[in-house]
Amino acid sequence: AAKTTGSLSVYFFDEQLRQTTEKHIALHHQIIRGLEEGQFRVYYQPVIDTASHKMTRCEALIRWEHPERGMVSPAEFIPIAEKTGAIIGLGEFVMQQVVKDWKYFADDNLDVTIAINRSPREFNDREAADHWLKILKESGMPADKLMMEITESMLMRNKERQFMNLRKLRDAGVHLAIDDFGTGYSSLNYLRSYPIDVIKIDRSFLQDVPYHGQQTALVEVLIRIAHTLNMQVIAEGVETEAQVDFLRAQDCHYQQGFFYGQAVPRDEFLKMAHTFNQTKGKLKKS
Ligand code: C2E
Ligand code: MG
Ligand code: MG
Ligand code: MG
Repeated sequence: AAKTTGSLSVYFFDEQLRQTTEKHIALHHQIIRGLEEGQFRVYYQPVIDTASHKMTRCEALIRWEHPERGMVSPAEFIPIAEKTGAIIGLGEFVMQQVVKDWKYFADDNLDVTIAINRSPREFNDREAADHWLKILKESGMPADKLMMEITESMLMRNKERQFMNLRKLRDAGVHLAIDDFGTGYSSLNYLRSYPIDVIKIDRSFLQDVPYHGQQTALVEVLIRIAHTLNMQVIAEGVETEAQVDFLRAQDCHYQQGFFYGQAVPRDEFLKMAHTFNQTKGKLKKS
């Protein structure tokens, strides 16, 4: 009986795997077609400099306007694109759009640092860093106005080629951030040995700050770590005024979250940033 059950479950496993694979392949082709047909957009979410209370940065977040499904969340297609390799095309699209938009902002007197998200796979190519630096150079966007966000999982792999690409980018002035910091398993030693200059505290840590004692103490420690390592620190998921006051008291360098604004299309971001910077964000506060 055990044998029958065994082979039965193997059968189910294969069937499930087959369906998953087919789903992934279908999505892969939809992404490639979507890129060709211009279904993807880059939105910008504001990042606020705590000390000056200005919108000096933003994060580029990809959006998919699917003709039938409407807006598809990156949480739904990025993980699969990472598996199938479609992430390479998506990453290229975001990079090309960002250098254009940086220029568009600069031409309107908004000097902003733009962060883009990168997946580990995008650093596998020996020429990745050279390629991105070439795009920067040709566009006129200074390297130190670009930041690349990577996750802790990438540091864990410790791949020589990925490390070299990171080194090259950082040497050229590109900022490198650990995204969702605290959710992975990287040790502080990893952090020190990589050319990282920014950490982004994952929004899950901010959630109950400053009301939950232990959670609040944890965020304090994460901010201290960044200060100790001479890194810049960005808090993600800032939604309340109480969190803003707390982060200010802790000298958290930058803040990002729905309290200041969600990711919006380029023109909307430009307007939002100018208004915020001219009024020192007073419109936003009651
Ligand atoms: P992430 O890089 O950690 O980006 C932050 C996510 O948190 C964004 O979700 C943003 O909309 C959301 N968020 C920001 N502030 C708040 C807040 O105050 N409260 C809450 N509840 N959420 C907030 P989004 O745009 O859906 O992106 C999800 C993830 O998809 C990103 O997480 C990133 O890992 C990935 N992603 C997005 N665009 C790209 C891309 O161009 N390339 C790659 N490789 N990954 C991307
Ligand atoms: Mg990010
Ligand atoms: Mg993040
Ligand atoms: Mg996050």
